[in-house]
Amino acid sequence: MELIFASHNEHKALEIEKILNEKIKIKSLTEIGWKEEIEETGSTIEANAILKAKAIYDSLLQDCFAEDTGLEVEALNNAPGVHTARYAGEQKNTEDNINLLLKNLTDSENRNAQFRTVICLILEGQQYLFEGKLIGKIATTKKGEHGFGYDPIFIPNEYSSSLAELGEEIKNKISHRKKAISKMVDFLEQRKFNK
Ligand code: IMP
Repeated sequence: MELIFASHNEHKALEIEKILNEKIKIKSLTEIGWKEEIEETGSTIEANAILKAKAIYDSLLQDCFAEDTGLEVEALNNAPGVHTARYAGEQKNTEDNINLLLKNLTDSENRNAQFRTVICLILEGQQYLFEGKLIGKIATTKKGEHGFGYDPIFIPNEYSSSLAELGEEIKNKISHRKKAISKMVDFLEQRKFNK
């Protein structure tokens, strides 16, 4: 089976390809020659996943999926949440985002946080949502070189190292994205079996 992955984010596409391990072939927007940026104007993570998948489906009428991920920090009333990519401004700069988050948590003993991924799959015009969460804590300093985004400051529960230190093999076994993708794969396998 082949699905279009409605994202220009190469980090995410690579992670998803590794998680899928050839169970499903995905085609990125770059591969299909889609150049436009799909504006994430939704007010929730779910809404953004839906609008990205719908933009591709409505234009190409092909089975596809999109995902949106947010970092929800307990002491900040679940911010940055849907604003995770542009937390420190429209430049969407990872360094700036991380520095602002660490600054906003300077005096906070409560470092609890979770990554939440929502996938929207559109199959033969029907829409399905899958969610995955990774619970952990925000570190006080950046550590590690692997992964992307906020990985250097996120320490999953039951670990004492950041996702960026743990590396891709561990991240892809425990991550929010892995959990959401596995739910989608289970759904697709079940559906094939029942057809
Ligand atoms: P979006 O889902 O592409 O809108 O990404 C939202 C923000 O979360 C961006 O700043 C990403 O870098 C960050 N992000 C998404 N997934 C991850 C992840 O797995 N680890 C760390 N940061 C992530």
